[in-house]
Amino acid sequence: MRYPSFLVAAALLTAAAVLTSCSSAPVTGRQQLMLMSDSEAAAMGRDAYREILAEKGIASNAEQTAMVRRAGERIAAANAGLGGNWEFNLINDETPNAFALPGGYVGVNTGLFQVVHDENQLAAVMGHEIAHVIARHPEERISRQALIGTGTAVLGGAAPELADMAAAAATLGLVLPFSREQESEADTIGLQYMARAGYDPRAAVQVWRNFDALGQSGPSFLSTHPSPGDRIASLESQMPAAMKIYEASSAN
Ligand SMILES: [Zn+2]
Repeated sequence: MRYPSFLVAAALLTAAAVLTSCSSAPVTGRQQLMLMSDSEAAAMGRDAYREILAEKGIASNAEQTAMVRRAGERIAAANAGLGGNWEFNLINDETPNAFALPGGYVGVNTGLFQVVHDENQLAAVMGHEIAHVIARHPEERISRQALIGTGTAVLGGAAPELADMAAAAATLGLVLPFSREQESEADTIGLQYMARAGYDPRAAVQVWRNFDALGQSGPSFLSTHPSPGDRIASLESQMPAAMKIYEASSAN
């Protein structure tokens, strides 16, 4: 049978995008599908961040706010390639969680201080969140979603809806949980980030013990995430290398 030309064109465009749009994550070098530019992702991140801040409000605890900004800025300054355009805010939300969005927009919930008890532990969580952004995990999720959406549209002959589906997938990508692989990668990269900024990487293990003690599996609390036990085992296997970075850090 003959396919309508617009379907062939859409399929070819998709194939071309896949073939030409790969990138690799820092530290691990893992190959990633990447169908979104930095500037597109940053614009989405900025809009989502403004919405979250408007909805929940910036928290007023001056001491915790100062700690969040200090840890974030130390991590950004100590690690090459992180750039200087980060925004760190303490957010009114009692859920023990933190997040980071493309463009460098980081939010730490007031509730995170239920499980982080000092600046080293806070830096472990922030290093992990910053790692998600630097490794372009949100864009990777969006790219996978968009590809699935595009394929469905091509099969269903719904080419005019491609743009809509990509947009819906993009929105989903910002709110869906990260994959297990991405979580482990953010743990690995984040451990190096905090150590290079002079924060004791052993605090990362303590954070996951604290989450475990609270009966929760960590930020976002979803079953797709590695269990605290798995994360602790993995972090401990990487600890000798992280301690070398920490001991060599001039920020220490
Ligand atoms: Zn994560």
